[in-house]
Amino acid sequence: MSLITRRKFATLAGLAAVGGVLKPGWGQSQGAEPPAVKVPAKAPAKAIAKEAAAPAAAPTAPDVPKLDRSIASPEEIWNDLIEGNKRFTSGKTAPRDVIAARIKTANGQQPYVAVLCCSDSRLSPELLFDQGIGDLFVVRTAGNVADPIALGSLEYAFEHLHTRMLVVLGHEKCGAVAATLAGEAMPTENLTALVNKIKPGIDRLKGLVHGETLMSLAVEANVHHSASNAIAESPIIRHEVAAGKLTVVKAVYKLGSGEVLRLGGNFEEVVKH
Ligand SMILES: [Zn+2]
Repeated sequence: MSLITRRKFATLAGLAAVGGVLKPGWGQSQGAEPPAVKVPAKAPAKAIAKEAAAPAAAPTAPDVPKLDRSIASPEEIWNDLIEGNKRFTSGKTAPRDVIAARIKTANGQQPYVAVLCCSDSRLSPELLFDQGIGDLFVVRTAGNVADPIALGSLEYAFEHLHTRMLVVLGHEKCGAVAATLAGEAMPTENLTALVNKIKPGIDRLKGLVHGETLMSLAVEANVHHSASNAIAESPIIRHEVAAGKLTVVKAVYKLGSGEVLRLGGNFEEVVKH
């Protein structure tokens, strides 16, 4: 299968830089002279000196387990995320030196997990998985559904950055799912396009269950459907999954407790509920 080459992605990043919309270094450095690291005037001198002396050392996060992300299995990667989620739910998030982390990642990124999740303001992946700068490649849309632009963004992560896991993350009481269930006419074409993308994933639940059960199962069904769509509609995701290089995990976030629960099974099992 012919995949998009890295050269094409490099061109894409280069054009973006020329256009002035994105700074060079949106992705990895492409062999050119790396841009100078700009040290903020107010950054503590001590932190900068420490970074220069030991750039590979973790800044400050003694409580975060060290995982070799380049060789970790999918289960180890997922467990790493869940450990972060446990720190988040218990209010014991790891201390982070954001200045050192920012400087360390200024010339390149190696996010180990991509997340496709809802734009809902209560659902911040870096917070709820207790991750730092450069750890997660995040695509957010209302209802965690992916159109071609969102899929293209994810493809960039898998093809060019070699990210090895995709987490499709829905959440309790999702407004986009609720609006789709309500079936009311949307006021704009854009909102109509959004609910039309969600609709096929939840329509079959209507009449089978009602009330809160319907809402809860619709969120799950939408996650399954969105994950299936991403695989079906993206040749890169399909290829990477088939080659065993990419694992797709489906999960739901609980607004009150902060827990992320992995979904087993598939869309058909939700519908049969
Ligand atoms: Zn939502």
